[in-house]
Amino acid sequence: MMSDSMIIKRCTKGRIAFTFDDGPNISTQSVLKILRNNRTKASFFVQGSRIAGHSATIEEMLKEGHLVGTHTYSHRRLTKLSKNEIELEISSANKRLESITGTRTEFFRPPYGSYNRDVLDVLEDKGMHMALWSKTSVDWLLPGFLMYLNTYGIDAGDIVLFHDSRKTGKYLDRIIKRAKNKGSLVSLESCVPVF
Ligand SMILES: [Zn+2]
Repeated sequence: MMSDSMIIKRCTKGRIAFTFDDGPNISTQSVLKILRNNRTKASFFVQGSRIAGHSATIEEMLKEGHLVGTHTYSHRRLTKLSKNEIELEISSANKRLESITGTRTEFFRPPYGSYNRDVLDVLEDKGMHMALWSKTSVDWLLPGFLMYLNTYGIDAGDIVLFHDSRKTGKYLDRIIKRAKNKGSLVSLESCVPVF
């Protein structure tokens, strides 16, 4: 039986969570620096295939109090895969991450937000939360300034989707400062409803 807290789309108690997908990459360090300068905690959903070359970056995320979850091994659309392939995509990413952190992550984000019953079953078996979002910066699509304007609508309770990219880094400081007027910025652990 799936628990009510398995799928997370919004943050409880009016808190706001910023999430960064697809790293680690060359832009992750600048994102981390802006978060540090703003004393802000966030969450990173990393790809298993990118972990090996960036273990120091992952360690830094943890040291700074950010949450690190997985985003599959190779960013495949899970609804096109068999249940065995889904299991492999998720578990191999988890193992890679665990080899650096020494702990099991409980948070997973599906590429493209795309999932089905098999994905939910696999996550349930692993005792993981599926972390979706309530608002997207559309940072992969929009030019930087439009992406910035798009995030004006961030409100209490939002989970916001970003990517570790140069463009996001450029506007992130301003976006954080504005969002802080709407609610406290937390990592996703603080968004899970407690029953
Ligand atoms: Zn992604």
